[in-house]
Amino acid sequence: MTVKVRLAPSPTGNLHIGTARTGVFNWLFARHHGGQFILRIEDTDTERSRQEYTDSILQGLKWLGLSWDEGPIFQSNRLDIYRQGVRTLLDKGLAYRCYTTAVELEELRAAQVARKEAPRYDNRHRNLTPEQQAAFEAEGRSFVIRFKIDDEREIVWNDMVRGRMSWRGSDLGGDMVIARAASGGDIGQALYNFAVVIDDIDMQITHVIRGEDHIANTAKQILLYEAFAATVPEFAHTPLILNQEGRKLSKRDGVTSISDFKQMGYIAPALVNYMTLLGWSPPDSTQEIFTLEAAAQQFSFERVNKAGAKFDWDKLDWLNSQYLHNLPIGELTDLLIPYWKAAGYEFDPTASRPLLEQLASLIGPSLTRLTDAVEMSRLFFTRLVEYSEEATSQLKQEGASVGIEAILTALDENQPLTDSLAQDMIKQVVKEQNLKRGLVMRSLRAALTGDLHGPDLIQSWLILNQLDFDRPRLNQALTLTH
Ligand code: GLU
Repeated sequence: MTVKVRLAPSPTGNLHIGTARTGVFNWLFARHHGGQFILRIEDTDTERSRQEYTDSILQGLKWLGLSWDEGPIFQSNRLDIYRQGVRTLLDKGLAYRCYTTAVELEELRAAQVARKEAPRYDNRHRNLTPEQQAAFEAEGRSFVIRFKIDDEREIVWNDMVRGRMSWRGSDLGGDMVIARAASGGDIGQALYNFAVVIDDIDMQITHVIRGEDHIANTAKQILLYEAFAATVPEFAHTPLILNQEGRKLSKRDGVTSISDFKQMGYIAPALVNYMTLLGWSPPDSTQEIFTLEAAAQQFSFERVNKAGAKFDWDKLDWLNSQYLHNLPIGELTDLLIPYWKAAGYEFDPTASRPLLEQLASLIGPSLTRLTDAVEMSRLFFTRLVEYSEEATSQLKQEGASVGIEAILTALDENQPLTDSLAQDMIKQVVKEQNLKRGLVMRSLRAALTGDLHGPDLIQSWLILNQLDFDRPRLNQALTLTH
């Protein structure tokens, strides 16, 4: 048997982290078994589906590296196939036209609620005679198609994550609506649960891997497979992603879509690595950093947790920093350029390439997210800097001006600056001016960067020197020394 799985997002929002994580598990399972991964867009809800969301889903999956083997298949192109499926069940006597009106349904519901019963349809039109049907039609009533659900049935499946699952037919709310009427009395649009089953049968899906919010749907869907005498696939219901309070991660938590994470400066391999760990752990649980391919080799649902997976921002940050710190400088530079541009920094990416790479390697080890680069790099994109209070008081220390003046003088003979020339210059100034090395270093940092903290001073200076920013800043700093 060839494993065939699918991800079936509805384009009613941007690619959500929960959907993407379900995508990760589908992808890992397919790759582990040398199977196929299909992408199906469930866009039958025309009111809520939007092209921009489909685009966001496709782009997000591509960005994460979750390549699919077939698709995207759009449900909106398959409406006739679903209608045909509805007709088949009507012909088999497994479904029927139900003429109960909205008012009648509401009365039924109110009576059930008054009796403290769970609302359910009472199957009142399951066995209408042709004459009764004709009478309802003559009244001009519209209808829905309902699929018969046997209250006595026990529906059992062995979930790959949750083990034995069992539902009673009587818990499914009565005979279920599978399609609405179209104008003119024909069968109209099929409903979600029905379309999913038709597609999964048609596409020969062997394993349905989806979020645990679909468990009740699975019970209904199994009955539909049986109605079509089709093989029931295996099911795996993946745990929800929870926020710090243990509630389902939602819009209220700020970021939920993959594009939000991208914008926040997370990179795809780190995010996808993190999502893999949201509910799954590798056999060697000390191993935390791996590619999708490496995870696929080891992936199985035996190691997927039943309990919800808490979203841990610190862990994601840590993983992201590990990936950033290990990126080749060329790649890191490519990733940083858009952030520098977006911050309004002006530079020529081609002519300044060597400098930009130097800057990337200077700040790279301090980055947690790509966005951190904006503040860290600011001082390399403007000729002069603003001086922090700390820096200003450093510059007022006794000896600071003497040190800076001596460096300015020595700078003329040491062009272009190199690492060893800079080191020697500092040594010489310390010796000749009889100053403390710490004082000279701190004053130099204050003068060149406007701050007392930051990346390696000599490396920063070398970049500023190539930009011709060091001399003007040393001069500017001198005006602050009194
Ligand atoms: N379209 C459904 C959703 O976005 C998924 C359906 C399924 O995986 O069966 O939640």
